Amino acid sequence: MNTLQNPQSSQGSSQETSRQAFPYRGRFAPSPTGPLHAGSLASALGSWLDARAHGGQWLVRIEDVDTPRTVQGSDQIILQQLIACGLYWDEEVVWQSKRTALYQAALDQLNKDQMTYRCICSRKHIEETLRANGAELGRHEELIYPGNCRNQNRHEEKAAIRVSLPSSCVLQFKDRMKGVQSQDLTTQVGDFVLRRADGLFTYQLAVVVDDHLQDITHIVRGEDLFSNTARQLYLQQILGYQIPSYLHLPLVTNAAGEKLSKQTQALGINTNTKEATLDALNTAASHLDIWGDALKPLSTIDEWLSIAIKIWQHKGW
Ligand code: GLU
Repeated sequence: MNTLQNPQSSQGSSQETSRQAFPYRGRFAPSPTGPLHAGSLASALGSWLDARAHGGQWLVRIEDVDTPRTVQGSDQIILQQLIACGLYWDEEVVWQSKRTALYQAALDQLNKDQMTYRCICSRKHIEETLRANGAELGRHEELIYPGNCRNQNRHEEKAAIRVSLPSSCVLQFKDRMKGVQSQDLTTQVGDFVLRRADGLFTYQLAVVVDDHLQDITHIVRGEDLFSNTARQLYLQQILGYQIPSYLHLPLVTNAAGEKLSKQTQALGINTNTKEATLDALNTAASHLDIWGDALKPLSTIDEWLSIAIKIWQHKGW
């Protein structure tokens, strides 16, 4: 049941007209694999502050497209945690699991434009090919697809669908924090998957379709997602979408230097009391490098957030 509503959100058809009035539309797009932890709260706060500092709108989208990874009920916990932190959103929350027809429509367009092909390679088969080509592979390494199925004209029903990259595909873009960046998709990523063999759409396709359909102009998210940006820019280009601006926030790590996540047993933030919530916000602010004495004495969350917006504005990212 997706019932939790933001007490401050605007609803219904007024959403369409209000979009045009906002040159800034940002979003927070958590995968519901557990409650917010210090890292995901820092991403939520950073994207919220950036939207508010620009007088923009801020949306929440639950990225549950990878249904086997979804933890039942964590979407509602995340929404409750955002509300407890005063991070209100401006439109109804959307759930990716209900939007598969939209992803299929985008994929149909790419299929029709002959930008894709079917692939029946297992991970093991890809690894074997890469090793045979002389690659040394780490255990969890992202594999650069060697193109085995590319010219095979496969028709198998159970097949992944990959995008077919040109022989050179260097994407250059400016990250608001990291400056000008570039990635050669062909040599560093390879033809990547848009729909898996089990029929699930991938994050890369879903995020691009949703950012487009939701008119997102500014993407502010954690650095762990940075390596996906060139893939997303490429999909935006071939689908004829507007390109949003990007800002990747510093990664929050644990004492061992690992990214906070469910796999590294990151604890959910505590929003049981106002004091605990302010503590969580202060920690997030220090990860975002905006913590300082001005935030210390504040006793209400609204006061804290309004000072944090001013500090964010001074950063001038
Ligand atoms: N759903 C992704 C995650 O939680 C974030 C997607 C994005 O911000 O682009 O890691």
